[in-house]
Amino acid sequence: MQSVRGMQDILPEESKYWQYIHQIALNILESANYQEIKTPIVEARSLFERSIGEETDIISKEMYTFNDRAKRALTLRPEGTASIARAILQHNLCANNRTQKLWYFGPMFRYERPQQGRQRQFHQLGIECYGSNHPALDAEIIYIAWSILSKLQCGQVVLHLNSIGNSKERQMYSEQLKQYFLKYIKNLDLRLVQTIHKNPLRLLDSKESKLHEIISGAPNILQYLDNNSTQHFDLVQQYLTDLNVPFQVNNKLVRGLDYYNNTVFEFKTNALGTQDTICGGGRYDSLTQQIGGNPIHAIGWGMGIERLIILLKNHIDIINKPPCIYIATQNTNYIGYSLRILPVIQQYNLKYEIDLSGSSLTKQLQKANKQNAMICIIIGEEEITNHTLTIKWLEEGDQKTYSTASFEQLVPVIASRYKDKFTQNIYKAYSTCL
Ligand code: ATP
Ligand code: MG
Repeated sequence: MQSVRGMQDILPEESKYWQYIHQIALNILESANYQEIKTPIVEARSLFERSIGEETDIISKEMYTFNDRAKRALTLRPEGTASIARAILQHNLCANNRTQKLWYFGPMFRYERPQQGRQRQFHQLGIECYGSNHPALDAEIIYIAWSILSKLQCGQVVLHLNSIGNSKERQMYSEQLKQYFLKYIKNLDLRLVQTIHKNPLRLLDSKESKLHEIISGAPNILQYLDNNSTQHFDLVQQYLTDLNVPFQVNNKLVRGLDYYNNTVFEFKTNALGTQDTICGGGRYDSLTQQIGGNPIHAIGWGMGIERLIILLKNHIDIINKPPCIYIATQNTNYIGYSLRILPVIQQYNLKYEIDLSGSSLTKQLQKANKQNAMICIIIGEEEITNHTLTIKWLEEGDQKTYSTASFEQLVPVIASRYKDKFTQNIYKAYSTCL
């Protein structure tokens, strides 16, 4: 049996990178006072149709939809934003103008052609902030994404920033854009012509090479923004400068989903070929209204974890921590004696490996060395008879036998040898905590 096309196992070697991202992101999100939200993987199909937009790639060709036994049309979520908007309304989380700062991490599903950086099951880390349309919030959430990417050391990413205005401004701009693209209709195939009629904005960030030259001469959306939208965009840029976040304004950036207004942004890299966006987001002040509730100001972003990991691997190598303590038992009949050490080790969060192979002590010691353990606890026939255990320091090679009247003395024995180092380096290097 094989996993389903486009859906991958995440094996232990890979998991280290996931944990690393999780840990760094969590620290930054905690500091910014964000809280985790988890929503179901399955939602009503109509939720996505109404929010993401019928003419988008996701709805027109990428959704995993099926009917359940009661003939409900259900969908494996293609993204997190719509589900969280539903949850906000369903649980009245923004009652009395309360703000909500939420983060999520989980699998998303899109029926796309699998390739490097593009799977059918992929994962996103994202944040959603509800309850304010202040441009400082736009800058702050971008700053959070930027901080996470910088702290992760994933190489150079460039922040592209744009404003797509409100729906009225966008409509006017769309019309102008349509007229512009229609001038080139002779050179374009039917699919592109249909997009010109249905949603010309979508063509602006098209990856189609024959469109590049045409797009470069297209009208600029910023000329269609009114005072409010222009001021909002100017302030976002000002605040980003205050936060020392480098960015470049990219008037061709429109994003692939329909619910955005005003600020949109993407963090891009040139290390991943065409799958070049690591994180994308924007403002969506009318999303809750589109799915049947009151309008609530909101803004957020989503980060593709698999793409991020491809980048990370170019820059850092995360290795598994070795076990600190290797427990070698000469005769497995006495393994119960060895097991009694485990609660003591666990109390100090040290990593251990207990050898159940029954092979010779020499072989077990070789394995302990190979695994780069710091010490090997040896339980031989003699230790059992005398109620002792032997601690062998693997790097230095010396060993000493201790009475096991109290196993509790075990870790202090290790600690006293390495005094200062124990709490800092050694503890960090061998602890089971990240
Ligand atoms: P793309 O243009 O690459 O299709 P998108 O605009 O569809 O991206 P978003 O909906 O903005 O992507 O999702 C946010 C992020 O999630 C993307 O920037 C990307 O890092 C990641 N992502 C999106 N689709 C996939 C996928 N099929 N496989 C892996 N990662 C993905
Ligand atoms: Mg896509």
